[in-house]
Amino acid sequence: MCQRAIYPGTFDPVTYGHIDIIKRAQEIFSEVMVAVAHNPHKKPLFSVKERVDMLKKATADLKGIEIYDFDGLVVDFAHKHKAKVLIRGLRMLSDFEYEFQMALTNRKLADDVETIFLMPQESYSYLSAKLLKEAASLGADLSCFVPSYVEKAVKEKLGKSK
Ligand code: ADP
Repeated sequence: MCQRAIYPGTFDPVTYGHIDIIKRAQEIFSEVMVAVAHNPHKKPLFSVKERVDMLKKATADLKGIEIYDFDGLVVDFAHKHKAKVLIRGLRMLSDFEYEFQMALTNRKLADDVETIFLMPQESYSYLSAKLLKEAASLGADLSCFVPSYVEKAVKEKLGKSK
């Protein structure tokens, strides 16, 4: 039986949707490695260190969760850490096509690594880090979407702090 799963993503920044998926994964696997992709082509708002630090804070009270960063193929990261499962979150049908393509591409690259999809609580199913940043740039209250220190960091980055 596989006890270790990897939850890869950009996490720019971590939201309550990601945290919901981490908690669900934690119920199933004894060890969940959250893997923060450098993803420079996505031009993240936060540095990889900032994204890792926010995730560490968000998961500090959870057992069996480790936060890493990685560059390159996620299947290489999985092999390096002897993990056979990738976790991805599925929010809506709109996620499906991209996630399906990615899961099958990863399977083609590494047949021994399986992708498992978890769905968040409905209230987070529309929440995305991208929309969150757009809303923040317009001065929205983010308290339903992210912990307060993440809201503060987003607003500071966007020059929206009071
Ligand atoms: P990526 O750039 O890899 O898509 P993200 O940080 O946007 O990175 O997302 C990482 C994973 O978390 C993806 O599988 C995404 O579908 C999932 N995810 C993002 N937001 C949510 C949410 N609100 N609820 C559930 N899953 C989510």
